[in-house]
Amino acid sequence: MGWPNRIQSVPEDVKAFYSVRSELSVSKDLLLYRNRTVIPTEWRRDILSKIHEGHQGITKCREHAKMSVWWQEIGQDIAHEISTCQFCQTNRPTQQKKPLITTPLPARPWQKVGMDLCELEGKRYLVVIDYYSRYLEVMYVPEITSKQVIGKLKNLFARWGIPEEVVSDNGAQFTSTKFRLLQSEYNFIHTTSSPHFPQANDLKSVKMTDDRAKTSYRRFYNRRHSVKSLPEHGPGDMVRVKLDKEKGWKTTGVVVSQATTPRSYIVTTDGLATMRQNRRHLKVSLGDDVAVPVESQDTPMLETVPSSGERTETPEDNAHEMDVESHSPGPRTSGRVVHKPLRFRDDIDK
Ligand SMILES: [Zn+2]
Repeated sequence: MGWPNRIQSVPEDVKAFYSVRSELSVSKDLLLYRNRTVIPTEWRRDILSKIHEGHQGITKCREHAKMSVWWQEIGQDIAHEISTCQFCQTNRPTQQKKPLITTPLPARPWQKVGMDLCELEGKRYLVVIDYYSRYLEVMYVPEITSKQVIGKLKNLFARWGIPEEVVSDNGAQFTSTKFRLLQSEYNFIHTTSSPHFPQANDLKSVKMTDDRAKTSYRRFYNRRHSVKSLPEHGPGDMVRVKLDKEKGWKTTGVVVSQATTPRSYIVTTDGLATMRQNRRHLKVSLGDDVAVPVESQDTPMLETVPSSGERTETPEDNAHEMDVESHSPGPRTSGRVVHKPLRFRDDIDK
């Protein structure tokens, strides 16, 4: 047995296999092509319909076949099977994934917004994104009806103003008569196309995109402005203050308390005035380089400093050193008494 040396000597019905003869073998009465069963002509129709049973695309079907069956032209037969499948023709997705189109940046925030409905864990949300700032609002809508969506949008527009242009898909909620009424009442342009924000029907990916955008924006901002996070202050910390009219850090002061606005403090400067200072305009002094006038210790303003004499040195205090301008412990300006912050506070408590 074996293959003849020349194709001419091969019987007509097996000539087709001559070119792949080295890949063929017999195992338990089955003819194999590598590890795939060679299917006789009369069974191929049946096998083809089994391969395409789940109506998967050509790639999946070919992968499936590669693991089990083989005949010559099997690839073409699979392609033909799919292209003539009635089910696949009627249920084919209407659109292929479109290439990403970057929309031109609007001139200002809230000029153009995109909106879409998303679902996460069985709950529906209305997602609105500002094309300029990438600001994102996610609003829970118990039922996706025009009424619910419009209610959420009216609330949104009341808070942020009415955009010039709204972009949405052709979903029923955005094409209803009610929505058209909202559009004419609020006078915005309504563009119905894909809002272009990435795979917006998946809320998780929207959130991820939003987080990514914000993180990279934050990083960019921090690098651009060489931002370092600054240590917080406690009452009694001695600080140098940069006043609006001043060029340098000329004025000294004491932190009275934190202000209600973030990163702001109530500071008394030389016991004369109480002002609110943003953290950016404060520099901590360890005391050595702050010369506090003697008389300031007795000013009424300083007596209003909340008693916090028990406050002991914490690692936080040491952290302040990082923010202090380097200075040499050289001779000081005469006529001024120097106090360290803790000592200074002790004096007040007496
Ligand atoms: Zn099909």
